[in-house]
Amino acid sequence: MNKIKYCNIPIFIPQLACPHQCVFCNQEKISNTFVIPTSDDITNTIENYLTTLSKDTFINIAFFGGSFTAIPKNDMINYLKIGHSFIKSGKVNGIRISTKPDYINDAILDILEQYGVTAIELGAQSTNDKVLVKSGRGHKFDAIENAAKLIKARNFELGLQMMLGLPHDTLELSLQTAKDIVRLKADTTRIYPTIVVQGTVLEKMYKNNQYQPLSLDDAVFWSKEVLKIFLEAGVKVLRVGLHPSDELEIGKSLISGPIHPSFKEMVLTEIWNDILKNQELKKEKTTIYVAEKQLNYAIGYKAKNRKEFQKNGFDINFLADNSLKDFNFHVSYN
Ligand code: SF4
Repeated sequence: MNKIKYCNIPIFIPQLACPHQCVFCNQEKISNTFVIPTSDDITNTIENYLTTLSKDTFINIAFFGGSFTAIPKNDMINYLKIGHSFIKSGKVNGIRISTKPDYINDAILDILEQYGVTAIELGAQSTNDKVLVKSGRGHKFDAIENAAKLIKARNFELGLQMMLGLPHDTLELSLQTAKDIVRLKADTTRIYPTIVVQGTVLEKMYKNNQYQPLSLDDAVFWSKEVLKIFLEAGVKVLRVGLHPSDELEIGKSLISGPIHPSFKEMVLTEIWNDILKNQELKKEKTTIYVAEKQLNYAIGYKAKNRKEFQKNGFDINFLADNSLKDFNFHVSYN
């Protein structure tokens, strides 16, 4: 049977006492908020998830949080053994892990390969050395490049996540990061605008006027430009932007930063705005057909694109056409 749905079973492994001090990360919060799951907890979580999933689902166990390959080796192997037992019994298709580029080497990849890991996501964040240093990442671009090459050489799926608006970052440097991620042959990416979280070095920098996060408009614009590079190169974008959660709200953990419940919709609205404003449309009753999944984005967040056309004297209606995919569209004059 062809698997048509995808599901990640998330297992959060908090990394206590991480030796790094990334300026945007509140380790204390991470350590205090999440308890380290026992083997039984993990097995129960996976089994509970499996009871809710249909047979046509492609299922990954996803070990998220901190840097999976930086936890003590025996703990890492114990977690992997649990995941691997579900792969061997045919209940799960693969294991995803997320980690830091400087915790990848051949010995670690041997272990990941042995226990059925299929996808490795690296928090690259930026490929500019100065941005990496100013963000306290503890490594430079060469570590990202080396890790990516080792991962690709073994045929794992490679994810390279990036952040926008870190200290010293500019639009040009973020565009370069996206191009480098493409050049390193990433299969997937995630795009996160930087936010200022309580208890971080970034909070101190922000309060001392040494750091300013991107405005929401700039974050949407930068994300759109970066997203275009990934779309053109065929890199799968797993996430754009952060959503407010109970904890990540102004007045709670979030001090400042471009966070919005419709962030992705706003970014895709701008992608469609760019596409449509390059069309030579006639000023008569017009229907623009787009893929069903794209309909809301083409119309725009709060109907921005439709309203903009109307303001300029166009009479445009948007409809879904199921034969279309991605950003393809066609125009008909009624
Ligand atoms: S973001 Fe940086 S400081 Fe926070 S857990 Fe990861 S490596 Fe450690």
